[in-house]
Order: sequence, then C-alpha cells, then structure tokens
Amino acid sequence: MGGTFDPIHYGHLFAAHEVMSGLRLDSVIFVPAGIPPHKRYDGMAAAAERYEMTLLAVAENGRFGISRTELERPGKSYTLDTLKAMGARYPGSDFFFIAGMDAVLEIATWRDPFEISSLCTIVTVQRPGYDKSGLENLPQGIKGSLRVIETPMLGISATDIRNRVREKRCVRYLLPEAVRAYIEKNGLYAGSETKAAGG
Ligand code: ATP
Ligand code: MG
Repeated sequence: MGGTFDPIHYGHLFAAHEVMSGLRLDSVIFVPAGIPPHKRYDGMAAAAERYEMTLLAVAENGRFGISRTELERPGKSYTLDTLKAMGARYPGSDFFFIAGMDAVLEIATWRDPFEISSLCTIVTVQRPGYDKSGLENLPQGIKGSLRVIETPMLGISATDIRNRVREKRCVRYLLPEAVRAYIEKNGLYAGSETKAAGG
C-alpha cells in the first residue's frame, strides 16, 4: 500500500486490514512515498518523519510491514519502480496494490498504468465522496483485473488531520495514539506561528 502517509491514519490501516483479511493475504507492506509525483503543498512532513509515523502505526500489527524503497530511491516515486523492487525482494510472491477509490480513479494518469496492472492485482476500497461508477471509465486493460473490496467507509483523510492540527483541534481517534503523540512532540503541521508560540 503506497501513500504519502502525511500522517498515516485509521483510514489507511482499516483499508489495509480489510483487504488483507478479505483476500487472505500474508501481510501488507506500507510504502511511504519519497517524492510523490502528484503531491505539492506547504507544510508537508519530511520523508523521515512520515517514515517514523508509519513505523509507529505498523508496529501495532505483526502482519503489517514497512518498506523504505521509495525513500531510498532518488527522484520521484513511481509505483512501477516500487513493484519491480518488491518483485526482486520477495521473489515468487503475488502482489496486490491497495489503493483508495480516489487514487484508483486517477490511475490512467499514472506512469505506466498497464505495466503496473500486469505486475500486480490492483485492489481498491471505497472512500466517501468517490463513486465507484467512475471505474467504468478506466481503460479495459486496467478495470478488467481490478478488485473492489467492500468495506464500511471511513471519512478520514490526512488533509483533514493536518488542518485540524493547524487549527489546534483534536485528532484523537482518527489515528493511532502513538502517531498523534509524535505529531504533537515534533510540532508537525502546526504552522510557523503556532510553533513559535508553543516554543
Ligand atoms: P491526503 O489528504 O494528504 O491526500 P490521504 O488521507 O488521502 O492524504 P494518502 O497518503 O494520500 O492519504 O493515501 C494513501 C492511500 O490510502 C491512497 O490509495 C488513498 O486512496 C488511501 N486512503 C487514504 N485514506 C483512506 C480512507 N479513509 N479510506 C480508504 N482509503 C484511504
Ligand atoms: Mg490522498
């Protein structure tokens, strides 16, 4: 499961767990993006911080793991490169790429979408605000092999969590407590004014 994980939250962890149980996968490996090609905004946490938060979250489940492959690879993070690296690291394994509906609906704009879907099964979970009828518009070569796993939807997003922190609103129960505490301790997402005021 790839993502910016800025920060990782229960939407990610629940989706991962539902897909893992639904498809009887051995494990889920979370892959924080180094430089995400589609993402630009102020106040993004450093790669090392996103990695540490993801590590804290996955430590709670023995079947969850984390990969540094995108953080160690120079340049932008492309999923195809990651799948090739995973294939070399875990030869003989079957790979499933887990993505929320918002991400999958954009997959035709990614680099090498057809090669991606030839190296893995793309599995998607629904997300509030993204209608699965949009999958119909994906190219046949992609939608033909796509799996949709039905789960209760969680309306949690990292964008909302960052905004809440900036506005000093509570983020408890949206993400693991260890991640919430890390954000607080390191003053992430607070914005320069808040950081200065809080020392
Ligand atoms: P941001 O708001 O910064 O985009 P995000 O919450 O969307 O953050 P990402 O790191 O962008 O998190 O997402 C990584 C992957 O997890 C994507 O495939 C995304 O669709 C999926 N995902 C994120 N939140 C949820 C959720 N609440 N339910 C299902 N899938 C989710
Ligand atoms: Mg997102």
